[in-house]
Amino acid sequence: MDKYTGKALYKGIAIGKVLFYKKDNGDIKKSAVDDINGELARYEKAKEMSINQLRELHKKAVKEVGETGAAVFEVHAMMLQDEDYNDSIRNIIIGQKANAEFAVATAGNNFAKMFAGMEDAYFKARSVDMEDISDRVISNLTGRSFEITLESEPVIIVASEITPSETVRMDKNKVAAFVTHHGSSNSHTAVFARTLGIPAIIGVNVKEEWDGKNAVVDGYTGTLFINPDEDLIKHMSLKQDKDASDRHILNEYIGQDTVTKRGRKVRLYNNIGNISDIDSAIANDAEGIGLFRSEFVYLESSRFPTEDEQFRIYKKICERMGGRKVIIRTLDIGADKKVGYFNLKDEENPAMGYRAIRICLKEPEIFKVQLRALFRAACYGNLSIMYPMITSVNEILEIRKLIDEVKTELKKEGISYRVPGQGIMVETPASALISDELAEYADFFNIGTNDLTQYALAASYQNEKIDDFYNPHHKAIFRMIQMVINNAHKRGKWVGICGELASDPSVTKRLVRMGIDELSVAPVMTLKIRKIIRGME
Ligand code: PEP
Ligand code: MG
Repeated sequence: MDKYTGKALYKGIAIGKVLFYKKDNGDIKKSAVDDINGELARYEKAKEMSINQLRELHKKAVKEVGETGAAVFEVHAMMLQDEDYNDSIRNIIIGQKANAEFAVATAGNNFAKMFAGMEDAYFKARSVDMEDISDRVISNLTGRSFEITLESEPVIIVASEITPSETVRMDKNKVAAFVTHHGSSNSHTAVFARTLGIPAIIGVNVKEEWDGKNAVVDGYTGTLFINPDEDLIKHMSLKQDKDASDRHILNEYIGQDTVTKRGRKVRLYNNIGNISDIDSAIANDAEGIGLFRSEFVYLESSRFPTEDEQFRIYKKICERMGGRKVIIRTLDIGADKKVGYFNLKDEENPAMGYRAIRICLKEPEIFKVQLRALFRAACYGNLSIMYPMITSVNEILEIRKLIDEVKTELKKEGISYRVPGQGIMVETPASALISDELAEYADFFNIGTNDLTQYALAASYQNEKIDDFYNPHHKAIFRMIQMVINNAHKRGKWVGICGELASDPSVTKRLVRMGIDELSVAPVMTLKIRKIIRGME
């Protein structure tokens, strides 16, 4: 039995097999092959596998996001069968006596470049699709899993690093735990682990040779055990049972109101990243959705999601939540959430760069599609929207202009819509400091303590070296929260927190005493936070 320690992100125990996830870094070597026919057959087999996987993915996506959203997988299957693409691969295998991986990578690259150089936006977007399908075939050739979820039993995902877009692709029901070398405890992958209640450890010097081995993750101490012995497994199973029974005890808070003993109400909402997380929100008795990170609709797509695709997703969320409040945060792409088809340039300082509302205001044609979808979906539930990364009143005035345009267009086209309530995310020190002025322009404030902390303390949440400097409990953060609450209440507006601080039980009482009106927490934390609030005077 070997033991490795790192930093724990989510407390919990996982027992299972390791799946070592290695990103295809595109570094495919050319090697000479003698058996050309054998190599051609290898390619055909990998292609068939890819097409079958795409069919399965299509079925899964239809259930999750409907026909239109799932169509991308059909497009991928069609592209894989394209004659020019296939001829090009075969020609490289035959003409250069090259291995199939090299042929697919080379042909895929050439086609991707060709699409990228096209004027038409539709064809330009096919460039990313081309890379996607080639990656899939290559991973089938090399036997490395492209989808991280092929196992039927939940696995312990071990990787050097996992990006938010990779996390999104995983079937979370099949992930027992995450163990990575890189990543900080405040990164979005960490947020995912906490949202889903998946034990996770970072900072472990991971090894590929662990793939397929039995392991135990102890998320309480940040320890990974490879080839655990019987005694340890027994001990950890008992701990797992204790966790399950603690969760069971919390279940008595289902159906109860989130009020203090004196009857002060705090709204207890949930943060979610996609539609499938709603099940968890409902199971944990969330009173609403306080933050739907809409950028994941974009991250899960290989091209710009259309208005109809977005409309269906937003409508479904509203419908699933019944009359309960749903707050959808408008597109917050950029920084650590990158999407290929946005063609965002690499920046020296992306967290302080071209991201979120800045992209939406500079590229209104993208933003207006989302606003139209949101306004249409607002007819189907208790929807509000909020804007990320606001730093000035001027930005709100610019948003208002676009809203007027969207309203006029929808009216002219005879399409039903409703303008939802609009909130401002306070996640820059600037917006906290001018919250007295901003309060006039917002129906509510939602404090994004993740970004607010990194900007106020000049400590990026993605830099693992400065984890200790990134301190959401810093006095400066609490002073800003108090300032925002006071300024909002003076104007009769409510204030919530949707950053990770809201899910931190050690500060719940303090935040409630400060006058916070709403907390939007990870689904697994809902009942624990409710218990704390109900226990307050
Ligand atoms: C935040 O910054 O606290 C927030 C909720 O937004 P993000 O999605 O950037 O974590
Ligand atoms: Mg933020």
